[in-house]
Amino acid sequence: MTARILDGSGTAASLLSQVADRVALLRASGLTPKLATVLVGDDGASKTYVQMKVNRCADVGIESVRVDLAGSITTAQLVDAIRELSADPGVHGILLQHPVPGHIDERAAFEAIAPDKDVDGVTLTSFAAMSLGVPAFQSCTPGGIMRLLDAHGIELSGRTAVVVGRSPILGLPMGMLLLRRDATVTYCHSRTADVADAVRRADLLVAAVGRPDFIRPEWIRPGAVVVDAGYNPGNRGDVDPAAADVASWFTPVPGGVGPMTIATLLDQTVTAAELRHGVRP
Ligand code: NAP
Repeated sequence: MTARILDGSGTAASLLSQVADRVALLRASGLTPKLATVLVGDDGASKTYVQMKVNRCADVGIESVRVDLAGSITTAQLVDAIRELSADPGVHGILLQHPVPGHIDERAAFEAIAPDKDVDGVTLTSFAAMSLGVPAFQSCTPGGIMRLLDAHGIELSGRTAVVVGRSPILGLPMGMLLLRRDATVTYCHSRTADVADAVRRADLLVAAVGRPDFIRPEWIRPGAVVVDAGYNPGNRGDVDPAAADVASWFTPVPGGVGPMTIATLLDQTVTAAELRHGVRP
């Protein structure tokens, strides 16, 4: 079997085109959506991710403001900087680029984001609402994966879903979103006794580990849907690409999950602006 492609680049492009139309409507009424990005330190990959988000904002007409802070900043200083953005009426969405340096209390920094500006879906408020099925901003990578699956008509209800990884921004919310859609969800993590055994049972696999080619092709159940959220140096995902010979659907790396993450961020930024200005019910 050769898997069909879950086309993240194409799906993101059509989502961004709708986002651009909504931005044009807002701008015509004198409102410009604005995203603030906060970057701490000078990690090369994080800088690239922020620049990509800023570039995509410009493409669709969203204004962006960059707040780049030294890696030596304290948690209190970072929290103050984010609170300032939370209080700024001109800012509609705030993105704190993850990960922050190890000495910073990331949770405290996330919680400084006003819930109505939490367009990256990282606060406790957003996570709780998303888990309970209350309308909320979703964590962008899992939210983007759900949009990608829906765009390709992938059935989720009653399917056995296995999520490898349980990070607060990716694996954990991924499983909650799949559960809300009536999948039967299993999480694997670094203490799971036999990841291969769990993966073999998956109708739908989401790999979010951060280890290149960690998921072996022989673990994949024939006909499974395989979503590779991993992005490792050298454009390598967390799933050995040979898994595409066994799966029914497969996300390329790059061009799968990555573009959907950014498109979801921008979609949610415009939603935040629409909600604030009463353009959206
Ligand atoms: P993370 O915070 O490092 O979490 C990794 C998860 O993998 C943890 O839950 C960890 O378990 C689990 N894990 C580690 N080793 C394992 C093993 N041997 N067996 C089973 N589970 C294991 O990483 P993340 O931020 O979630 O990112 C994961 C991947 O997604 C990375 O490649 C990252 O670059 C990529 N990513 C892509 C996008 C995108 O837009 N494409 C966005 C975000 C992240 P424990 O909880 O037990 O430690």
